[in-house]
Amino acid sequence: MERKRIYLASPTMHGWEQKFVQEVFDSNWVAPVGPDVNAFEKEVAEYAGIGYAAAVSAGTAAIHLALKLLEVKEGDVVLCSDLTFSASCNPICYEKAVPVFVDSEPDTWDMSPDALRRALKKYPHAKAVICVHLYGTPARLDEILAICQEAGVPMIEDAAESLSSTYKGKQTGTFGRFGIFSFNGNKIITTSSGGMLVSDDREAIERARFLATQARDVARHYQHSQIGYNYRMSNVLAGIGRGQMKSLALHKEQKQEIYRTYQESFADMEEITMNPLNPAGEANNWLSCMTIAPGAGVTRDQIIDALEAENIESRPIWKPMHLQPVFAGCDFFSHGEAESVGADIFDRGLCLPSDVKNTKEDMERVIGIVRGVFGK
Ligand SMILES: *Cc1c(COP(=O)(O)O)cnc(C)c1O
Repeated sequence: MERKRIYLASPTMHGWEQKFVQEVFDSNWVAPVGPDVNAFEKEVAEYAGIGYAAAVSAGTAAIHLALKLLEVKEGDVVLCSDLTFSASCNPICYEKAVPVFVDSEPDTWDMSPDALRRALKKYPHAKAVICVHLYGTPARLDEILAICQEAGVPMIEDAAESLSSTYKGKQTGTFGRFGIFSFNGNKIITTSSGGMLVSDDREAIERARFLATQARDVARHYQHSQIGYNYRMSNVLAGIGRGQMKSLALHKEQKQEIYRTYQESFADMEEITMNPLNPAGEANNWLSCMTIAPGAGVTRDQIIDALEAENIESRPIWKPMHLQPVFAGCDFFSHGEAESVGADIFDRGLCLPSDVKNTKEDMERVIGIVRGVFGK
């Protein structure tokens, strides 16, 4: 008998979402505008502890708008975390700007302050730094912010994976000039697809909403003085988001419990190390990841294959951007003398099933299969 599939991270609905969506249908606000979009923005801003939020169609759109608001233009350099999903840096290329990649450091897997310092020395006129909180672990924000401030370069926080993670008690996404969240299907909460741009700069967020709705000037007729985008979030999806917000704290607890379970279950094995946390913060543990010790005699693909044979989903760590064919030739700053910290994590690492619906039995199956590959 085919066993039930165990997922990496799939949407988890609780019933509230349908109630909100029913109200959207009852009131016929089935459009990329409406009371739920406004309310969802307010609820996310309040939750994060930041002034303003603009709900958009995707986290990628939010990053693109942040770059527009910082007036990133053709030929400008934008620094970006190297170990991430391509959505972090694709919008740099939408503007024909030049991405330069900054390696991870081993202690957090996030942007290396040392590599960033060297990158800003070479590119003092960089227009922005995009800093990712990978898999929900907050980056070394104090150091990174200080380096950005000294160079006078604004930071955009890609908190797509880290909604609800905190650094020194403050929510990730609220430290930079702009922060972005994603509500894609696999994130800690989802609207199927969607994103949010947040900032304490009211005018900037108003301008983001303007750019996201085709940049319509104030006039009775349709008048445009600049190029706009169709990036606004649907009111239907905002309804889903309002429902999901009620379960964000629960999902965070469940994700943290999944991480703890893996950590305790592999504690006796020198061959396995879990992805690092940051002692200065609290991770949402969006995905629990592991690396295999060098010389353990097991490859990440062997583990992925063994899990897949049992209908269990896992996947490699993000492939670093400087190794992607599409970004070949882009400048890259490594953390230390070694080739690249990110490439090493990619070679030896994988993301384990982190779905909040995983049962105790599901977790035991996954752990048993992983241990089995090592003969334990
Ligand atoms: C998911 C993700 C995004 C993009 O979000 P979308 O809503 O899918 O556009 C950006 N950056 C990172 C690191 C992500 O994981």
